[in-house]
Amino acid sequence: MSHTEELVAEPLATQSKQPARSYAAKEASGALGPWNFERRIPGPHDVQVDILFCGVCHTDLHFVRNDWGMSMYPLVPGHEIVGRVTAIGDHVTKFKEGDLVGIGCLVDTCRECDNCKQDLEQYCMGGATYTYSAPEKKEIGFTYGGYSNKIVCDENFILNVSDKLPLEKVAPLLCAGITTYSPLKNWKIGAGHKVAILGLGGLGHMGVKFAAAFGAEVTVLSTTASKEADAKRLGAHKFVLTSNEEQVKAVQNSFDFILDTVSAEHDYNFYLSMLKTKGAMVCVGLPNQPAVVPAFTLVFQGRNLAGSLIGGIAETQEMLDYCAANNITSDVEVIDIKDINKAYVRMEKSDVKYRFVIDMATL
Ligand SMILES: [Zn+2]
Ligand SMILES: [Zn+2]
Repeated sequence: MSHTEELVAEPLATQSKQPARSYAAKEASGALGPWNFERRIPGPHDVQVDILFCGVCHTDLHFVRNDWGMSMYPLVPGHEIVGRVTAIGDHVTKFKEGDLVGIGCLVDTCRECDNCKQDLEQYCMGGATYTYSAPEKKEIGFTYGGYSNKIVCDENFILNVSDKLPLEKVAPLLCAGITTYSPLKNWKIGAGHKVAILGLGGLGHMGVKFAAAFGAEVTVLSTTASKEADAKRLGAHKFVLTSNEEQVKAVQNSFDFILDTVSAEHDYNFYLSMLKTKGAMVCVGLPNQPAVVPAFTLVFQGRNLAGSLIGGIAETQEMLDYCAANNITSDVEVIDIKDINKAYVRMEKSDVKYRFVIDMATL
């Protein structure tokens, strides 16, 4: 071998990458289909996970269709990931091969800003790296999510998952679970509080379970009368059909807290009027259009209107541990990956109780 040949190193791309399989959208108008791509080989602080189940969040659909104008294609959705560790980097201390783990909406953040230092990584001022369709911090390219056979992620963004609960029912906790747990905790909801959950879908059904588990009196507010029986099965004490004038009148000025999980356009004022003096309504859904909020409704009863985004990594772990200790899981319908496009059509019609979860063994 000549001296010159010795210097020709293998290109970095082939050294540091490994093949992976997925279902991806190739363009905004396209359906999801099989796509082979590359993941990085685990670095010193990385954990490699074989994905067992991945929940299907409404955000996945928004990103596939580029509703928010920030999608990058090919797009591999999925941020409700549960799997098993198959490899770890040299410096990984928190996980070992064979561990059951979860990955939610975040795979990296700046780790230096005030929010990151206070376990509020979801509000990272340096820009959080979301699990899919987000620019990578240390590499060229963008992230690919959980509709895939494997994922590689920094150990600081990986959660411990108990083997006590069915894993397919745990997957949605990584987004729908923490999104509803965090605001209820932040407002210290518990016994003696009257809580309303607005909307009974993937988020709302988890909101009902958590609020009831925390000891609150829980009312579901819904436009669909047929949801009453299910609301009560999930733990709600009361149900208000919001098209029924008398039922709505009876709950004026009555709730300490409303968790608004609705992503369709809706009248905030209508629901704010159901809050007690100093009560709070927290939005976790994301309607596309801005809403009109009359200051009068807020000012005259000292009401609060706020928002909340998922939760930090420590709080997500706290939520998973709470669920394992209290036997709380999501209600799911497990699907084969080949049926994902049909699942999206049904999800748009709210025709799922209450979360689709993909069995990744079918990929
Ligand atoms: Zn989500
Ligand atoms: Zn940060």
